[in-house]
Amino acid sequence: MSHDLVPLPGAATDDLVLKFWGVRGSTPVSGPQYAEFGGCTPCLEVRCGGRLFVVDAGSGIYNLGQNNRTDLPSNVDLLFSHLHLDHTAGLPFFKPAVLDSTRTITTYCGNLGGESAGPALDRLFSPPLFPIGLADFPCSFAHRGFEAGQPLVFEDGSRVETILLNHPQGSVGYRFEHGGKSLCLISDIEHRDPWPDPALAEFVAGADLMVYDGMFTDCEYPTCRGWGHSTWQKGVELAREAGVKTLGIIHLHPAHSDTVLREMEADLQAEMPNAFIARESQTVVVGAEQRAAPRKTGARRPVAGELRRRIRVA
Ligand SMILES: [Zn+2]
Ligand SMILES: [Zn+2]
Repeated sequence: MSHDLVPLPGAATDDLVLKFWGVRGSTPVSGPQYAEFGGCTPCLEVRCGGRLFVVDAGSGIYNLGQNNRTDLPSNVDLLFSHLHLDHTAGLPFFKPAVLDSTRTITTYCGNLGGESAGPALDRLFSPPLFPIGLADFPCSFAHRGFEAGQPLVFEDGSRVETILLNHPQGSVGYRFEHGGKSLCLISDIEHRDPWPDPALAEFVAGADLMVYDGMFTDCEYPTCRGWGHSTWQKGVELAREAGVKTLGIIHLHPAHSDTVLREMEADLQAEMPNAFIARESQTVVVGAEQRAAPRKTGARRPVAGELRRRIRVA
């Protein structure tokens, strides 16, 4: 199976590139109040040079498909953090992959004690909840289960480290290394005592970028304890403890409008100037010299530290 890809425009083969196709948590939202940060649920594209990984299949995976028609590999590796609906419901709408009989989508699931995503996805995508089953799509599916904490080693020699996160039914955090850069994806997670968690701090140690669950603020958290999510403040604590260079916040609360998130980002950057709240369609070249560009959705006031953030917006 080929994993060869044309790197993103402007990306070198040793670049580690992250693109956010969905950053909203729990349920998709839409409306003018979400124009800047976006309303799609989690889907992240990770490119290690020409090597593609897709993490999660929330509603953002639809736009990933629309924008990558010509450069998807014949085998798409889809790494699930876990199988809650906001991370899986978009899968049948990953059109260029599921409608192509030459393609295989291989899923990886590490939070079910070694069980693959296959049985759960077959329950979810079957009548009367969904008109057809995954087996009815033209593409092929392969489902691999693993135990979080074990590295994923792929046929082409690629290796991704994993860790089990504190979340209802568990969730899997991932660490990608490429070209001397490192990227950690840590969502969905609820912080717990002691914090920062020593094992997690070791897992993310020295990462160039950590993407972290910022569903709530510290003020909101006490009424949402036990729901499986964290705060940007806990992300900053973890990043500082672990020597993480840059922090990006994801799994944004459906009630957090652009106005709320801009204020939250200013608070975040007062603590950690190069940290940011992720925006849908934003591309980050991990560890690269960053320069922020205004989103095409247009007029908004600059936020604190924006020009210092090392971000490319596509
Ligand atoms: Zn979620
Ligand atoms: Zn979840």
